[in-house]
Amino acid sequence: MPKRRLMTPGPTQVPEQALLSLARQITHHRTDEFRSLVAEVLDGLKYVFQTENDVVVLASSGTGAMEAAVVNVVPRGGKALVLESGKFAERWRKIGEAFGVEVIRYEVPWGERFEAAEVARLLHLHADVVAVYATLSETSTGVGHDIEAIGRVVAPTKSLLVVDGISSVGAMECRTDTWGIDLLVVGGQKGLMSPPGLAFLAVSPAAWRQIESIDRQAFYFDLVAYRKALAAPDTPYTPAIPLIAALAESLRLFRLEGIDRIWERTRGLARATRAGLSAMGLNLTSAFPADSLTAAYVPDGTDGKRLLDRLEARFGVKLAGGQGPLKGKIFRIAHMGMIDELDILSALAALELVLVELGHPVALGCGVAAASRVLAERADVAHQQKTVCGATGAAFQENVF
Ligand SMILES: *Cc1c(COP(=O)(O)O)cnc(C)c1O
Repeated sequence: MPKRRLMTPGPTQVPEQALLSLARQITHHRTDEFRSLVAEVLDGLKYVFQTENDVVVLASSGTGAMEAAVVNVVPRGGKALVLESGKFAERWRKIGEAFGVEVIRYEVPWGERFEAAEVARLLHLHADVVAVYATLSETSTGVGHDIEAIGRVVAPTKSLLVVDGISSVGAMECRTDTWGIDLLVVGGQKGLMSPPGLAFLAVSPAAWRQIESIDRQAFYFDLVAYRKALAAPDTPYTPAIPLIAALAESLRLFRLEGIDRIWERTRGLARATRAGLSAMGLNLTSAFPADSLTAAYVPDGTDGKRLLDRLEARFGVKLAGGQGPLKGKIFRIAHMGMIDELDILSALAALELVLVELGHPVALGCGVAAASRVLAERADVAHQQKTVCGATGAAFQENVF
């Protein structure tokens, strides 16, 4: 069996320190020792989220925190504006519909971005929208949305801004407070390098006022109970104790490196990945790519499922396929958390080899060379050589975003 190389946009690899902490005996949570661990984790999360707002920890996957961000904010019959352009944004709408929320949809085709001016127009038209639901990195298409621009048009209105940062926070730039995000939803198993099972919400004072004023359709996810527990700090029900201990280890690494440097490093990995894939003649799914993952089309005539199966069987490289209408048509590669420069180069090398094995013409080494050039640029290495190589030997347009 080949060495496992998990490179999906969630779950992601977990640092060794965090894995080792999972081997320890369970401790009790109503103790000073555990409360001080929670205090440290909350501080670390605030740092990574770039917020002074309260942060709440839930024992659930990311979707649980999404549900909490709906049921606590918009009452049954209330209005929400959902910015929809992919599988995960669609989930905002589905959760709203499940709880009787009146959903106004601003839909753009998958792979496109939202116009802040259109959000402003819709909020003017529907002044009673309680909250706008957006997604920072739409994991199904690999699009990075301009939340800063959307935040600017939501800020002067009465609506709250809720952002799904599940596949982006901890990897790509997210300035919760500066961008005016009232509720930021994050999952543990992506950019935060934690084992699956934890989700977080950063809640602004305006969001708390709204939450406390409505009839919430929630019990386990009733955020008011979590707010009360924050005084300790504590959680209202048994927390996922080992996962919180593991998260504390991962968060220490964020402090060590510094969040700005991590954002920059991720940006470099994203640019290298895009350059590599483009040099191999592959098309990216969007002109507005996120920094935390890259999605590209499987070349015509190649079976998407075979490509992914072979990458895993031959090299242990686990990438993600497409979802919904993109199933079988795209593959997605993460560059968040533990993923480093050599992981990207190996994944590109594996892709080249497997594409050749499946009969798709790629000049071996071409993608790797283009990605290396971007990485060398970052490392400020002089004397870079611009070798020209392409799928069929013809010159290609190097596509570096
Ligand atoms: C992964 C993901 C989710 C869902 O998270 P789960 O932890 O699987 O519930 C939601 N939104 C985005 C953008 C994601 O990437």
